[in-house]
Amino acid sequence: MKALLTTSVGSFPKPEYLSRARTKSSRGDLSKEALRELEEKATAEWIQFQEDIGIDILVDGEQYRGDMATYFAENIEGTEISGLVRSYGNRYYKKPIITDELRLRGPISVDWFKFAQAHTDRPVKGMITGPYTMMDWSFDEYYGSRADACLAFAKLLHEEARALEAAGAKVVQVDEPALSTRFDELPLLVKAVGIVTKGLQANTVLHTCYGNYNDIFAYFNKLPVDQLDLEMSNSGLDLLDRFKREPLKKEIAFGVIDVHSHVIEPEALIRERIEKALTIFSPTQLFIDPDCGLKTRSLEEAQAKLRNMVAATRAVRTAHGWT
Ligand SMILES: [Zn+2]
Repeated sequence: MKALLTTSVGSFPKPEYLSRARTKSSRGDLSKEALRELEEKATAEWIQFQEDIGIDILVDGEQYRGDMATYFAENIEGTEISGLVRSYGNRYYKKPIITDELRLRGPISVDWFKFAQAHTDRPVKGMITGPYTMMDWSFDEYYGSRADACLAFAKLLHEEARALEAAGAKVVQVDEPALSTRFDELPLLVKAVGIVTKGLQANTVLHTCYGNYNDIFAYFNKLPVDQLDLEMSNSGLDLLDRFKREPLKKEIAFGVIDVHSHVIEPEALIRERIEKALTIFSPTQLFIDPDCGLKTRSLEEAQAKLRNMVAATRAVRTAHGWT
């Protein structure tokens, strides 16, 4: 029985040599080719790590990305990238600016998907920055309407999803960290994600970061994907009661690791979280992963957290006889 499959949300920390190389490259002191070589090395190392500890559905670790929206926008015609913009306190990033009709220049993430998938027999997720987040995190100087900009992103991200599927992706994840930004725009998000996932044969996943989950709860079953990927641990598992009253008609990737904390969750605590989840969800409906991307943790912290996550999941499977 395929019970409690383990996976990850997307990003992993970059090794020291890659962070140094990225700084050098941004100053013009390292060629694109040399940087790419190190990004490939780091990606291959993360694939190997995930295989070694026994994760079931892998991610490429996003070693080649800075900001998730900017990375996609850089590969979309009709956008420019701003100078550094400040957000979330001390985080600076370059924001996309929509200056013309949006068009796909070519596949965005397919190359990296192929590279990662070539290094393992296990499925690697195809990863798409969602249309609502792309719109919400961009300045719009062309469409003049949030809905029009969002739907324009959705159409071209559908092409990207199809290209990932054609390249062999069995799982396509749409990341929508901006999902809970504006409650009144949830119908727009549902429509836009529906355009992206329309007709896909791949298992489709929507990840969103922690927000007002209670307010958006009514939309969970309306989201046009096979699986929801939620930050369950950050919220102290308090959504479980709500799921008990209003069952989820989809798979759930259940975050059991707090990505904002330096503390390495002990195996026993993770087992407890999984057992609690199993009181609501069936073992085939339930996937186990960290709350969110791990890129803000140190490499050692991220690896230790993932090791404990897999060990705890194995222990639960064994205890229930699901091996
Ligand atoms: Zn997240």
